Amino acid sequence: MIHIKNLHKYFGESHVLRGISCDIQPKEVVCVIGPSGSGKSTFLRCMNALESVSEGEVQVNGFAIHDAKTDINKLRESVGMVFQRFNLFPHMTVLENLMMAPMSLKGMKRAEAVSLAENLLAKVGLSDKRDAWPSSLSGGQQQRVAIARALAMNPSIMLFDEPTSALDPELVGDVLQVMKTLATEGMTMVIVTHEMGFAREVADRVIFIDQGVIQEEGTPQHLFTTPTNPRTAAFLSKVL
Ligand code: ADP
Ligand code: MG
Repeated sequence: MIHIKNLHKYFGESHVLRGISCDIQPKEVVCVIGPSGSGKSTFLRCMNALESVSEGEVQVNGFAIHDAKTDINKLRESVGMVFQRFNLFPHMTVLENLMMAPMSLKGMKRAEAVSLAENLLAKVGLSDKRDAWPSSLSGGQQQRVAIARALAMNPSIMLFDEPTSALDPELVGDVLQVMKTLATEGMTMVIVTHEMGFAREVADRVIFIDQGVIQEEGTPQHLFTTPTNPRTAAFLSKVL
């Protein structure tokens, strides 16, 4: 579903991703961990062309992102992304936030978009917020709406960049629960996270990135209990 070969990314002189190769299978849940500034967000953003690829190959859901001829809008319709900040449209109600992309990008009829949006709100436990403004919701509720909004496009892959980092601790659990449900349903997911407990429980594979390189990867069991790379061990000793 995702095939990355020898990916390099430069910002000017700064060599941020230094030869990343990685294949992700359908239904796989991959958590990406690593120190701040190590290139995790850049890596994720390369997967839906929010960053250009300096060198190497990035294939996502059949789209060759490194190829300038690829239709990036079509790619993004099949790849949902959730950021640390929720970026809901402030001038639209919760329901309208969910209806917008299916109607404008897929030409979905209004009635169908309403029922889709209602189903997704039920899924994230926010049916009662259908007519609320985003600003009236807690951070955790806004993030669950953001997840529902990404799901409204019926994506094949979901990318998450530290979806719970901006939340008060007591709001984190509900968001992780929604992600856990998605994982159980077989969604292909790549999740940059500092929630080690979540990674341990939900990930099929954990990737440790440091200095723009995959230093180590493996099952949560392997990575968290018997890391072989001293960098992984040093990082984990700080966060676990
Ligand atoms: P992480 O998500 O692991 O914290 P990032 O991928 O955000 O790391 O950043 C990796 C490095 O790339 C950092 O040194 C950061 O300053 C740099 N960087 C990220 N985005 C840009 C950008 N748009 N322009 C210049 N440098 C950037
Ligand atoms: Mg980041």
